Amino acid sequence: MSLTTMGGDGLHVESVALGDIAARFGTPCYVYSRAALTATYAAYRDALQAHGLADRSLVCYAVKANSNLAILNLFARLGAGFDIVSGGELARVLAAGGSAGKIVFSGVGKSRAEMRAALEAGIHCFNVESASELDQLDEVAGSLGRRAPVSLRVNPDVDAKTHPYISTGLKTAKFGIAFGEAFDIYRRAAHLPHIAVRGIDCHIGSQLLDPAPAAEAADKVLALVDRLAAAGIALEHIDLGGGMGIQYRADEPAPPVADYLAPMLAKLAGRREKLVFEPGRSLVGNAGLLLTRVQVLKPGEEKHFAVVDAAMNDLMRPALYDAWHDIVPVSATKVGAGDTATAMPYEIVGPVCESGDFLGHDRKLALNEGDLLAILSAGAYGMAMASNYNSRPRAAEVMVDGDATHLIRHREEVPELFALESVLP
Ligand SMILES: *Cc1c(COP(=O)(O)O)cnc(C)c1O
Repeated sequence: MSLTTMGGDGLHVESVALGDIAARFGTPCYVYSRAALTATYAAYRDALQAHGLADRSLVCYAVKANSNLAILNLFARLGAGFDIVSGGELARVLAAGGSAGKIVFSGVGKSRAEMRAALEAGIHCFNVESASELDQLDEVAGSLGRRAPVSLRVNPDVDAKTHPYISTGLKTAKFGIAFGEAFDIYRRAAHLPHIAVRGIDCHIGSQLLDPAPAAEAADKVLALVDRLAAAGIALEHIDLGGGMGIQYRADEPAPPVADYLAPMLAKLAGRREKLVFEPGRSLVGNAGLLLTRVQVLKPGEEKHFAVVDAAMNDLMRPALYDAWHDIVPVSATKVGAGDTATAMPYEIVGPVCESGDFLGHDRKLALNEGDLLAILSAGAYGMAMASNYNSRPRAAEVMVDGDATHLIRHREEVPELFALESVLP
């Protein structure tokens, strides 16, 4: 399903014209679709249902992909759990109406304060990533007179075949407990007084398009689960992480969620453990776009630049991973006296003072100054990674719901940028 459709007055998200959104809320502006978010969540539930796993599985949305309260609240209403990686994300989920009992807490460096907050909230499970973290958690739980529910995040040493920055399941990664050490650490965990061993977890990377590495990881995890059971350590749940890839280019489709999950789910169908998944990108990525306006056209000898009002501080993925986002014009047919444009290859760049500040290279577009562009597939790791670099206020975010548009984060105002700072006395 495509997020946008072309109408007589240009590109729409659901029933709302992006031109109207720009006029009302300004640019740059993130635009999400409630229907698209609902549909991607339903795709997970349907895939689990098709394998008879719906009533013993939990889809925990990975909050770091997009942590806007409205998005968290929407997933909470749909019944999702949440995968968090910080105390800040814990607070967001609770503020958005998510239930603590459906939260799993991942991350290699949880602070004691974060452990305490999560224990007090009563989260479902800590995904523990090292032997040392296990000891610290035992101690913190003891000081609160509680037992901490844990899974060990094991590192299955499989190559997820994705960008090295978002590959997490190789031996060389900082994530998880080495597969060969996991059994012994489980045995130790089972004897710690303030630890309750509940499950196992693995997450091998992000933007995965080939289901084979995840299926291979699942095989390794299941073998370990069986070995633990034989040793008297019965696990209640198996968490197979997130990582499902999405379509970023019109000519590079991603497999549907059901197809990606099928090889994994087939292995799990006959078992008794509950299942957890931690998808982030695949729940939100294609459900959002970044709306921007062309400020200045700079034709050149070697390259033609289109300087837009969004930049690397708004959408970091191109600068960080050399990631591709399709960029499409918002207007349907060119109208007006200024319509002199012919299509040519543009470097789509922002105003930030870095040559790495680009949103797209070599895009063939017919542009006039003032035109609106939609940067697609920007719902995940877009606003969540935005910064104020160059003292740029972060963009507004809106959610379209049918013919209604809701402002879900107001555009930052300049005084807010330094409101927390002070000069010397
Ligand atoms: C980032 C992350 C996810 C989500 O990854 P996606 O690729 O966005 O689905 C899930 N689990 C853990 C532990 C993560 O770090």
